[in-house]
Amino acid sequence: MQTELSAAIDRVLRSGWFVLGPEVSAFEAEFASYCGAKHCVSLANGTDALELALRALDIGEGKAVLTVANAGMYSTVAILAAGAKPVYAEVRPDTLLVDTADVARILEHEKIDAIIVTHLYGLLGDIRQVIELARARGIPVIEDCAQAHGAVRDGRKAGSFGDIACFSFYPTKNLGALGDGGAIVTSRDDLAGKVRQLRQYGWSGKYHAELPGGRNSRLDEMQAAVLRVMLPRLDQWNARRREIAARYSRGIEHPKVTVPAIHGDDYVAHLYVIRTPERDRLKQHLAGAGIPCDIHYPVPDYAQEACRHLFEGVDRPVTAQACGEVLTLPCFPEMADDEVDFIIARVNSW
Ligand SMILES: *Cc1c(COP(=O)(O)O)cnc(C)c1O
Repeated sequence: MQTELSAAIDRVLRSGWFVLGPEVSAFEAEFASYCGAKHCVSLANGTDALELALRALDIGEGKAVLTVANAGMYSTVAILAAGAKPVYAEVRPDTLLVDTADVARILEHEKIDAIIVTHLYGLLGDIRQVIELARARGIPVIEDCAQAHGAVRDGRKAGSFGDIACFSFYPTKNLGALGDGGAIVTSRDDLAGKVRQLRQYGWSGKYHAELPGGRNSRLDEMQAAVLRVMLPRLDQWNARRREIAARYSRGIEHPKVTVPAIHGDDYVAHLYVIRTPERDRLKQHLAGAGIPCDIHYPVPDYAQEACRHLFEGVDRPVTAQACGEVLTLPCFPEMADDEVDFIIARVNSW
């Protein structure tokens, strides 16, 4: 792959065209087609993708957006940046994805203007059920696919279910660039057009700013060329990630550790996350064997220092408990089976 990456970067260097050129156009066409959507608009990063998707849907001051509080603050940051208010639905204890019963309850009682569904850890949640609830009320659905590139359900890819979907190409994501990058995909012409304008100062054409809320948020030619080399390998990487996750779930047997279920193509194993009430002790035990583990994510959004003053009295018990118990084991396509087995043995010996 290194030769191909070098050749791609060389091609951009020789072209002398670095922003919004042929590589970006080609990547957008290829990624839209991969996702089964009509349009892809590439952007500077995944958080911009969320914010510009909200803005394209006219979500701003006075609007409320339903999301979850256990997904690393990304949606909260974007909602607040757009000037709207996050409302948090509870998550399911088994998958840690949004609980549709709670979504239904909130939609009965509160005015919600948009819903963000995060395919956390790479698993497509109950997206169809959420969309059904939303459609019945005319509420648009945004998919946050930053951890779920290539996940498939009933022949449809992550990003093809909602009104608009957001992706990040941060280097550690399932499809990662050699720097920052992001995109939206959508089959709605109006939303694609608006995001296309918003990523470039709100311009309708050069130096004519038409839409408010615009900015500079562009993927550059170098990253687009790199992503074009990687995209054809995504399915194979995802399959390997899934294999590693299944190996963990079959191999880990410890009375104090809960492992995720083994999933099919609807899970691309961006993160392999186990749970235990004694999380910090297990983390230390693994660190003692040189196994680095991270926590995704330790603090509910509504309790974060930056914004907790906005959410006084908000408590989501399942979410809060999960934040105290989750632990992410290493899971990436380059890992060998014996490395996975070593970690399994270390967990089991705890
Ligand atoms: C990484 C990530 C983002 C943000 O992407 P950036 O490119 O880092 O801005 C948004 N949502 C989720 C679920 C993510 O994992």
